[in-house]
Amino acid sequence: MSTIFTKIIDGEIPSYKIAENEKFYAFLDINPLAKGHTLVIPKKEINYIFDIQDDLLSEMMVFAKKVAKAIEKSISCERIGVTVIGLEVPHAHIHLIPINSITDMDFSKAKLSFSKEEFEKITESIVSNL
Ligand code: 5GP
Repeated sequence: MSTIFTKIIDGEIPSYKIAENEKFYAFLDINPLAKGHTLVIPKKEINYIFDIQDDLLSEMMVFAKKVAKAIEKSISCERIGVTVIGLEVPHAHIHLIPINSITDMDFSKAKLSFSKEEFEKITESIVSNL
């Protein structure tokens, strides 16, 4: 059975798409820790990030860098925090999170909620800076 993220890539489940190429897809996290919290995933369904083949993993980080630079230009923050957890969705993903302090990376904190319009505005802003 496909993962929820493969369904997002295939358009079966909607997402706020930030960027895509033949190998990777980036979209806003639906339960963000911060405005602009984005996930970067490989299109190939691989559960654990460190099972990704070297070449693809390197390319994934370069793709994530491009997305992070666009988030940086769109959202006021000190920098973009990067983390990988993967306990919830068995499809490798890098979290890109605009942060100002270490506590902004605390996944046990309550998540933010945004309206569809707000998510669309955030998406437009990041995409315009790619
Ligand atoms: P992790 O697997 O790294 O622990 O967490 C998975 C992340 O994926 C969470 O931050 C969660 O909010 C996000 N997520 C789970 N399901 C969906 C979804 O259907 N759409 C989007 N955009 N994000 C999701």
